[in-house]
Amino acid sequence: MTREPFSLYYHFSTYLKETFGEKVYRVPVDAGFSCPNRDGTKGIGGCIYCDSRGSAAPFVHRNLPIREQIEDGIQRVLKRYKAKKFIVYFQAFSNTYEKPEILRKIYGQALGFEGMIGVAIATRPDCVNREILDVIREVFQGVQVWMEYGLQTVHEESLVWMQRGHGVEAFENAVSLTRDTPFRVGAHIIFGLPGETREMMLETVRYLAALRIDDIKIHMLHVLKGTRLAKMYEHNPFDLLEMEEYISTVCDALELLPPSTVIQRLTGDAPSDRLIAPKWILRKQKTLKGIEAELIKRGTHQGIAWKGTSK
Ligand code: SF4
Repeated sequence: MTREPFSLYYHFSTYLKETFGEKVYRVPVDAGFSCPNRDGTKGIGGCIYCDSRGSAAPFVHRNLPIREQIEDGIQRVLKRYKAKKFIVYFQAFSNTYEKPEILRKIYGQALGFEGMIGVAIATRPDCVNREILDVIREVFQGVQVWMEYGLQTVHEESLVWMQRGHGVEAFENAVSLTRDTPFRVGAHIIFGLPGETREMMLETVRYLAALRIDDIKIHMLHVLKGTRLAKMYEHNPFDLLEMEEYISTVCDALELLPPSTVIQRLTGDAPSDRLIAPKWILRKQKTLKGIEAELIKRGTHQGIAWKGTSK
């Protein structure tokens, strides 16, 4: 797909407006899932950076029924953004980690809301198979599905360091299975892992660019209270990227990604009361403006260094 004229990068909101004709917002839910990297199946204690909320949005209440969480979320986006369309976002923990018959029941609770145009399901790449994807397809007929897989990095030694409990092969398998469905395929990656040079981070991006991933979320590694990473950081502080380095690396990444890849996120949403470091990630707008300013200064945009052919 060639998009003319091309802005600095293909923002998720642009994609949503082009596709659905108006503003669309995500309504995050915590559906009570667990994770094989926490319950002992793959590991205990989770990935070293994961806290007890498993990436849930700060305003989401795990103890509330899913439908109530969705109703609350719809009111929030309606009031705050005046948006009438929304995506139910299964965000916390591993949102495919259950038996298919249980998944069917859980997902079914997200149906029947006026204005719901799609569902985003974040999960580990080793938590999907054909049967699970078939359930998702069956339940969410008529709405768009975004599958989001945590890759984090393409470097196996970093995956071992962060105790992810899976390798790159699991991600490749998940992408390949999902490509047999009408779903969009997205990846989450982390910049600033100790031991990774800028070139290594960009190798992860090149890998995703070659896979023609549909959507991407880029996060900066951050240390949250109550995580194993926090203990490591306390006993043996390691270098975290400064805002300027992160901005510059993100700009390199955007240049390498295909123009068709939708950029869903370029900064994380860390809760200020639980964040230990780096504190600059709380300045989200400054970071995003810095990325735009850097691209303008370079005279570049997403895809300028992309070597493939357009969709
Ligand atoms: S896979 Fe996700 S939910 Fe599970 S421990 Fe890692 S970050 Fe947390």
